Amino acid sequence: MFKFRQKFQTVFIRFTHTNEVRVRFAPSPTGFLHLGGLRTALYNFLFAKSNDGKFILRIEDTDQTRIVDGALEQIQKDLNWAGIYINEGPRIGGLYGPYIQSQRLHLYKEQVNVLLENETAYRCFCTNRRLDLLRMEATRTGQIPKYDNRCRYLTKDDLQAKLNNKMQHCIRFKLIPGLQTFEDLIYGPITYDVALNEGDPVIYKSDGFPTYHFANVVDDHFMKISHVLRGVEWQVSTTKHIMMYRAFNWDPPIYGHLPLLMNSDGTKLSKRQGDIQIKHYRDNGILPQALNNLITHSGGGFDKDLERGLKPRIYTMDELANQFDIKKVNSHSGKVMSERLLEFNRFELERQIHSDIDLKVLVAKVQNIIREKFPDRQLPSCHKYSVSQCIVFIRAGIHYIGNFKNQY
Ligand SMILES: [Zn+2]
Repeated sequence: MFKFRQKFQTVFIRFTHTNEVRVRFAPSPTGFLHLGGLRTALYNFLFAKSNDGKFILRIEDTDQTRIVDGALEQIQKDLNWAGIYINEGPRIGGLYGPYIQSQRLHLYKEQVNVLLENETAYRCFCTNRRLDLLRMEATRTGQIPKYDNRCRYLTKDDLQAKLNNKMQHCIRFKLIPGLQTFEDLIYGPITYDVALNEGDPVIYKSDGFPTYHFANVVDDHFMKISHVLRGVEWQVSTTKHIMMYRAFNWDPPIYGHLPLLMNSDGTKLSKRQGDIQIKHYRDNGILPQALNNLITHSGGGFDKDLERGLKPRIYTMDELANQFDIKKVNSHSGKVMSERLLEFNRFELERQIHSDIDLKVLVAKVQNIIREKFPDRQLPSCHKYSVSQCIVFIRAGIHYIGNFKNQY
């Protein structure tokens, strides 16, 4: 364990002190931002902020069939609402754009040719029917269903004949058999034999689009991403991604995988259960910093007093970034105490009341609420001094800003 820590520290220091920290949040526009996605974005943002680094938004839309209209705009709006500011992304641009994968197709094509030429990738002409039969046969005989890598071994003549006949094909990457190890910033050393569990993966589909596995490697390299912090569900794919870096002769980024988020009853936080859209929280009067603090309470990465809520107050984004330490992120799954969200919201209102700048904004919001409720009346009590006094006076019973209108 000690040995690992030493090694880990060396790797970490090399990147934080000699290279700029650049992280990315890379959602697919297949739906709106949920709590799980916000957690990934927030931890990337805090990591960048605590290392004077950059936070990049990249949209992974290579699966064009699953795109939801308006999702890209909504994701950017939700991040902005949460106080997660984007240094480079689709809207503001940057040196390494475009930041939408469907606008980078020429790059993937160029790069897949590099792998074809150095023979770490190959063309596969297998039909869906053949792949289905392989799968069925594996299920029947109790084997792991996987592609049998047959087209790896096509002769040059066979290959040329198929190309001359313009046969539809995809491109696969040659997995290297055997155990591969990488250092996970959060989990420590991870060893996995990907070739034992998977056939050679498709990296370029017959429709001219790259797959996720290929596009994320190419983009992370060309966008100079130094650290990849993503959900633990990607951990089994990481050795495969590192193999691709090696095939290109590139240095891979440092990977850290964030553990699963669970509901407080121990069930998985899924879109159907508790993983509610960020828009829903916003529309229901939850304040962004209340939600951010709920997340940091469940995921770790901070001093114990903050995590356990021994000092029940809300931490601002600056305070969170100052205290954030990636080595303190839990490697066990975190429970989101959704039942405490209202309490957090009240703490955030309390914090705003004690901050001169935030109190002014809060008063203006409450004034708007009152004017909306009583549009025809000139209320002397709507003067900002009265509102401010009122807020301070009744604050103990208030959980949402919206509650104020019921007090008038
Ligand atoms: Zn094949």
